[in-house]
Amino acid sequence: MSKKVCWPVFLYISGYHLFLAIALPIYLMNYTPSLGLVLTSLLLVFVSGMAITTGYHRLYSHTCYKTHPIIEAILLFFGSVATQGSALRWANDHRLHHAFVDTDKDPYTVKKGMWHAHILWMFFRTTPIDPKIVSDLSKNKMVAFQHKYYVWCMIGANVLSFVAVGSFFKDYLGAFMFAWWVRLFLLHHTTWCINSLAHYWGSQNYSKEHTAVDNYLISLLTYGEGYHNYHHTFAYDYRNGIRWYHFDPAKWLIWTLNKLGLAHDLKRVNNYRITRALILQHKEELIQHLRDPFYSKKVSEIAENLSQKLIQLQAMLDRAQIRTLKKSLKEDWREWKRILKTIQKESLLQT
Ligand SMILES: [Zn+2]
Ligand SMILES: [Zn+2]
Repeated sequence: MSKKVCWPVFLYISGYHLFLAIALPIYLMNYTPSLGLVLTSLLLVFVSGMAITTGYHRLYSHTCYKTHPIIEAILLFFGSVATQGSALRWANDHRLHHAFVDTDKDPYTVKKGMWHAHILWMFFRTTPIDPKIVSDLSKNKMVAFQHKYYVWCMIGANVLSFVAVGSFFKDYLGAFMFAWWVRLFLLHHTTWCINSLAHYWGSQNYSKEHTAVDNYLISLLTYGEGYHNYHHTFAYDYRNGIRWYHFDPAKWLIWTLNKLGLAHDLKRVNNYRITRALILQHKEELIQHLRDPFYSKKVSEIAENLSQKLIQLQAMLDRAQIRTLKKSLKEDWREWKRILKTIQKESLLQT
């Protein structure tokens, strides 16, 4: 793989880090931003981070749900504020990450080191977008527009955000420092932790076939993306934290949008499948650490029994779904015949 430097990204990211390292101490020595301005900047960190997880990640990269165009426009606006590339570029890299996780084809593989996964991969990312990987997204007019005019969208959305905060608090310089650059620094490093820390520090509850880990603390830092072992095992689920107490604001937002009629086709993994993955992973763990062959055999047998029964239950559930579908199909068919009869009877066809 070529090691050509991607200069625009390198200069942008290192440039603003350098700018902050010099300008922030000077600013703080001369001014004190209001508490409201600092809290609003933190709110903007959260909102733009949520646009990445709810929009770029779960909506576009994994198509875990569908949503209303107005919600898409909002997600793309704050996705532009987040300054992480266009949704199309982001989804291209992320789909590669899932398909080739931990290999050389994974753009941010942690196998090349934590810093590579966190930030360095972007400095050397020179591969173009593969149209086959994101063919579905290229057809989405809003995504295509944001991609084509990405630099303008990104600058426009950021200027608009800091001017709005600045005019509200009558402090444009404070807003420029905090609502733009400090906010961007915090947002970047927290989302980048999903590629670095969430592949490094935590437990592997569902699978050891990849380096992804579950970690409650990381989920607090990453807008709910800390249940990364679950996510890599069941990537199409709209949830990352599947328990009600798991911190996953993107899951709560998508669920709320669904209840309001603004999101639909939410994908969820069947509970039996999740339990089966948990049991099989736990079995592997136990067998590795059990010294007594009798107990190893017993654990294997019980886990295998449970696994088979869970598969059967899952199939039964699917059959129930088929029955419901067949029933509704019959009703539709009767309706179809009824309407044909009415059309004929009432002579509703033009000659
Ligand atoms: Zn990952
Ligand atoms: Zn993902």
